[in-house]
Amino acid sequence: MKRDTTSTGIGTKALWAGEEESLAGGSTQVPIVQSVAFGYDDLDDWQAVAMGQRPGHIYSRNTNPTVAVFEEKARLLEGAEAATSFSSGMAAISNTFFALLRPGDRVVTIKDTYGGASELFRDFLPRNHIEACLCDTTSVEQIEREIAAGCRMLYLETPTNPTLKVVDIARLARCAHAVGAIVVTDNTFATPVNQRPLLLGSDLVLHSASKFLGGHADALGGVVCGPKELIQPIFHFREITGAALDPFAAYLLIRGMKTLEVRVERQNASAMRIATYLEQHAAVDRVFYPGLPSHPQHEIAKRQMRGGFGGVMSFTLHGGYPNLGSVETVVGPPATTSHVEVSAADRAAMGIPEALVRYSTGIENVSDLIADLEQALGCIVDTVKA
Ligand code: PLP
Repeated sequence: MKRDTTSTGIGTKALWAGEEESLAGGSTQVPIVQSVAFGYDDLDDWQAVAMGQRPGHIYSRNTNPTVAVFEEKARLLEGAEAATSFSSGMAAISNTFFALLRPGDRVVTIKDTYGGASELFRDFLPRNHIEACLCDTTSVEQIEREIAAGCRMLYLETPTNPTLKVVDIARLARCAHAVGAIVVTDNTFATPVNQRPLLLGSDLVLHSASKFLGGHADALGGVVCGPKELIQPIFHFREITGAALDPFAAYLLIRGMKTLEVRVERQNASAMRIATYLEQHAAVDRVFYPGLPSHPQHEIAKRQMRGGFGGVMSFTLHGGYPNLGSVETVVGPPATTSHVEVSAADRAAMGIPEALVRYSTGIENVSDLIADLEQALGCIVDTVKA
């Protein structure tokens, strides 16, 4: 099959798209171009590439052939005009903020963003005289009121990490565009298989590729996709800050992305079964999973997510204190993992109970996963009874 970009199926795109240009000497797989600089015999050729008059690469902090394939795959999966990559998801988020925002700007966001993003809102943006307004994630009315009061950017994450709250991207994007704001959505948890923020009205969509895009917990990376006019200044900012994706990491992410659809489909199906199982278990107090009819934003999730509701859920246990997005199942309490930098008081304010357990479903057989939970939760039931 030709590695074209016209196929419409997301699984086909994930496998083939973006590769053709990089294949040399009959190779069938994308090479790892582990080179810092690129040379040209003729100084005029070098200059033409450096000035952007001819395609090519000069220095890997700016562009690199392997990294370019990763960006092209992500761009096509999200259906965007352009994409630029980063050394991590946090680099993608912070470079996007500092490339697009100026002192005096205001950002409206939700309280439940990923811990690192939350730290930017609570500390680093205010330090740079950029106001961040953190709204109650579940109050669409409050978010709309704050947007209407004026803002330069609306930043969303849905479903959120770790309590899997869902926000209505289409409704809030309409509101943000009415005041001329840029809408940015972190699509890490949903993946382009389950949710396409650009089709819902978001201007930019970003990922921690270290999670589901890569899928094997062996490479850090980030990517932002959107229109050229927004991606260009973010790319330029990243050229200067130097938060470039390494070619070897790009290669691992490309390889991981080839199986994105089959992994996510299996994780969707297994997570749905596990969430249903947990919801009826005596040791479990509450289960947070957007696919469950009991989830408070289940109707919004059904409307804006397609395919499934993702591989991640969380739950609280009756009683006290008890790398995600990978093919292996990962279980852990956010209080000592993703949100360890957030104080206990702030975690409480963000609605993250200390007894919350986050469960990132892998691709093991679901019967084995349920058997594993059965024995672990059985011990809790015994302890609570004792
Ligand atoms: N966004 C979300 C939703 C995440 O879960 C994470 C990390 O867990 C990040 C962003 C940050 O990504 P990275 O660890 O690649 O910097």
